[in-house]
Amino acid sequence: VAQRAFVIGLDVGGTKIEGILVDKAKNQVAACRAAMDATSVERVVESIAAAIQTLLDSANLMQESLAGIGVGIPGQVLEGVVHLAVNLKMERYPLEEELTRRFASPVRVENDVRIAALGVYQRLFGAGQIRHLAYLSVGTGISAGVILDGRLHRGVGGMAGEIGHVQVDPRGARCGCGAYGCLEAFASGSGMVASARKALVEGRPSVLAEIDPSILTTHQLFAAAAGGDTLAGEIVKTAARYISQALQWLVMGYDVERVALGGGVLRSRDVMTPAVLRAIQRLRESSLLAAHMLPEDKIVLLPEDFNPGVWGAAGLI
Ligand SMILES: [Zn+2]
Repeated sequence: VAQRAFVIGLDVGGTKIEGILVDKAKNQVAACRAAMDATSVERVVESIAAAIQTLLDSANLMQESLAGIGVGIPGQVLEGVVHLAVNLKMERYPLEEELTRRFASPVRVENDVRIAALGVYQRLFGAGQIRHLAYLSVGTGISAGVILDGRLHRGVGGMAGEIGHVQVDPRGARCGCGAYGCLEAFASGSGMVASARKALVEGRPSVLAEIDPSILTTHQLFAAAAGGDTLAGEIVKTAARYISQALQWLVMGYDVERVALGGGVLRSRDVMTPAVLRAIQRLRESSLLAAHMLPEDKIVLLPEDFNPGVWGAAGLI
């Protein structure tokens, strides 16, 4: 029996868990995708433990075969303690300690987007190809992760890259964090849907008016934009402009070699991604400096079937 030769990487979300089991050479041996029961902290921990067990079972391995487990969590994580993860109902929860106890293996817990940056860095750019990378994730929320000099930059509180809550327009909608007009309120999936809902309630004409606003999705919003709907098109264009600006903050703030774009919203390759690329092009045309700092080959789109979160989690070990 191979001794401690395998690593598990988990990407934990509010509704699902994705995971991989890899060998020492980081070849994928097994993968899983499971539903997350986020009704209580106990259920969340059980869901995570079940995903780990599923991966072990599918490769016929005992926990003694594990060199370690890396876990990405959507929230603030410091030294293995989940300080706050609203979607997982966790507050000051010692997840690293709990999983270490259960599986008798080294466990590392980190913020999900920070380790996704690590996953992009390690998997898309082999060792030493580049030294500085920013990863911008646009999904239900917006966040970034930064690799500087080949290392994940966490900051003093593990918050480095948490740019979704930078206020971009104080006249904007109220954000979940309490402030008005955060980047997320305009440009995240949930922010765009909320913007559409508000406009529909105010009586703006749109094909979306035929849909029950309470079940409106980004998918429907993007379809409406693709079909030429004015309201949907405006929301997409505004979001794309703010996303291009966020990308510019990262490039100007850290002077990275590459900036990678990922997350659920940017998986919309026919609507959202082209809108963002057009917005970046407008930035280039507006300024020689922007054109110099944002050349086309600096912007990287993730391969569609690549989940950087699970690879970054496995890379923690
Ligand atoms: Zn906010």
